[in-house]
Amino acid sequence: METKLLSTDDESLEYAAELLRNGKVVGIPTETVYGLGANALDINAVGDIFKAKGRPQDNPLIVHISELSQLDGLVEDIPDLAKKCAEAFWPGPLTMIFKKKAIIPDTTSGGLDTVGIRMPSNKVARKIISLAGVPIAAPSANLSGSPSPTTAMHVFKDMNGRVPAIVDGGMSAVGVESTVINFEGDGIRILRPGFISKEDLTEITDNVIIDKGVLEQLSPDTVVRSPGMKYRHYSPTADVTIIDADADKFRAFISEHADSETVCLVFDESDCEGTGLRFINYGANSKQQAQRLFDALRELDEIGAKKAFARCPEKTGVGLAVYNRLLRAAGFQVIKL
Ligand code: AMP
Ligand code: MG
Repeated sequence: METKLLSTDDESLEYAAELLRNGKVVGIPTETVYGLGANALDINAVGDIFKAKGRPQDNPLIVHISELSQLDGLVEDIPDLAKKCAEAFWPGPLTMIFKKKAIIPDTTSGGLDTVGIRMPSNKVARKIISLAGVPIAAPSANLSGSPSPTTAMHVFKDMNGRVPAIVDGGMSAVGVESTVINFEGDGIRILRPGFISKEDLTEITDNVIIDKGVLEQLSPDTVVRSPGMKYRHYSPTADVTIIDADADKFRAFISEHADSETVCLVFDESDCEGTGLRFINYGANSKQQAQRLFDALRELDEIGAKKAFARCPEKTGVGLAVYNRLLRAAGFQVIKL
């Protein structure tokens, strides 16, 4: 099939919405990363998302809404904490897990009796959802196993010939996928870190915990609360190692251990000054690093890097999300100096 690149003018968005209403899969921009959207209530449409991505059937999709009023029709009960989170962080990069109503097909929820719901802040995304008139299931628009797409071109590279259209809404503002949380007792558990940080959630309740799967490699037989955590994610061909060190120690380490096929992922070019090594600058602070990380990982592949040393991001705020994604790209290889 031919894949059309659409702009964000009214006519194009109406066309994208029509495709969605007709059970087709469309690449759409959101503030986190690009999504591969389809009618969340249509088993065949949702099945086509899994096919286009090559995604395992038991890895659930997040359902996107454009109005808070849609929530009631999709989920069983809404805890008070969820209402507070919605007020504080929606529209925005926060996904909340609820008990699902029967209207959500098992295909969408990966066989679980729960469903993740999010209201994106990206205006184009909300307009498409609202024009389509149905909740939109949308995982990241990459092929399963490659980095999440943060530009329409990334989506095109992975999905050309697999979906009828991609809406080009420019570069994703946040750059990492949404924070995923569930509610346990009177607390919040972070299943996947994102732009809405633990620090942000602590404004709602003191009782916020980070799930073990965020920073640790789970053994294949662990029962996980968030199925995405057990899959190997975002891994470039290069063998990536995270170097947890300040600039001076990082420079000394790479001078000693890098070879001509090594590429360094750095905060600033001074991190590898004088080493003559190839480098990719992925940003001086956590916000920039979130925006650029996935593009940097794709670039590693494009330039054919065999080995990569990455400077370790901060582990607080949105930095925790960057670290979580980089850890997976590195297969959990970290050297602390
Ligand atoms: P992606 O669509 O690629 O951003 O991945 C969505 C991720 O959200 C999944 O891989 C899960 O880890 C998580 N998720 C979605 N729905 C649920 C759910 N009902 N329960 C737990 N985690 C979920
Ligand atoms: Mg994904």
